[in-house]
Amino acid sequence: MSRAFNFCAGPAALPEAVLRQAQAELLEWGAERASVMEVSHRGAAFEALIAQAEADLRALMDIPDDYAVLFLQGGATQQFALLPMNLAAPGQGADYVVSGHWSARAVAEADPHVRTRVLVDAADSEGRYLQAPLVDPATIDADAAYLHYCHNETIHGVEFPEVPDSGDVPLVGDFSSTILSRPLDVRRFGGIYAGAQKNIGPSGLALVIVRRDLLERAGQPRARVLTWAAHARAGSLLHTPPTFSIYLAALVFAWLREMGGLEVMAAVNQRKAQRLYQAIDASEGFYANPVEAASRSWMNVPFWLHDEGLVATFLEESREAGLLALKGHREIGGLRASLYNAMPEAGVAALVDFMGDFARRKG
Ligand SMILES: *Cc1c(COP(=O)(O)O)cnc(C)c1O
Repeated sequence: MSRAFNFCAGPAALPEAVLRQAQAELLEWGAERASVMEVSHRGAAFEALIAQAEADLRALMDIPDDYAVLFLQGGATQQFALLPMNLAAPGQGADYVVSGHWSARAVAEADPHVRTRVLVDAADSEGRYLQAPLVDPATIDADAAYLHYCHNETIHGVEFPEVPDSGDVPLVGDFSSTILSRPLDVRRFGGIYAGAQKNIGPSGLALVIVRRDLLERAGQPRARVLTWAAHARAGSLLHTPPTFSIYLAALVFAWLREMGGLEVMAAVNQRKAQRLYQAIDASEGFYANPVEAASRSWMNVPFWLHDEGLVATFLEESREAGLLALKGHREIGGLRASLYNAMPEAGVAALVDFMGDFARRKG
């Protein structure tokens, strides 16, 4: 048996070269004569590692010096709650754009900590999320602590074609499933965060990129361990960080730089997504993706079979063909292929071939 193509939405595939390097140095990392998992986060070797990870990420994303980069324990859901705790003063409100499951979750987690207001909910009359909504900056509360949105809805496969304009209100984006997939103008944001397990590394790590002046805000009464500014001052070493996840993220950043950076990844990712959407659209209704063309995600492609009764067979046969985890999210059903950076073009080609063959046999 060999490694299959893994289309899981998260935790997701990691670049094979990264896993091989981790395997090769698992028992003895660098000159440490121990595993990276077994050494102090306060030792010189780990401090050098986290500094290099941050430097590589800053280079990849062109992150200006007036933004802090934090490597934190936990996932994106925790950041849903930490965002209002850190950026909203008591009594202040925050505006939210809802474009699918995760942006709705962000409102629910923020609710106990800030007066949330849903500025737009993009659900259609049947409750489906099929396009990124337009955000009119004139409708944003000028006193809001921030405007929050999710750049790529992982379950619905809806991605904002452009960063929305939030006027003078700081814009905060959940980039869990699209960070590092293409270049991004970080200067447009007050904050960007992402759980690692889609396009960065293994789970257990969240990345926060936040404008330093916003860290000076009073925020809500909260413990120091929940305070972004405290983590920033401590260089993400306020307490033990998820060292192995940071190590793997560092390998992924180095791999991305070696691949040529985010312009190159964008071209590859666009080709991968186009190939799959073309196959779906050309299937004469055997497969369907109803998302509006401009909002179609490059990273997560949900699709439906014309006959739902074929889903189980599709999943069984695709798995046998070495194509893993194509089941759609239980909230909307159907199928889904996630095409993060670690998915090679050959994986998408194999999926498209399988889909064509399946349609010919079952159509
Ligand atoms: C997966 C995901 C989350 C939740 O991440 P956790 O790390 O499980 O908390 C939030 N937002 C988006 C866009 C996601 O894809």
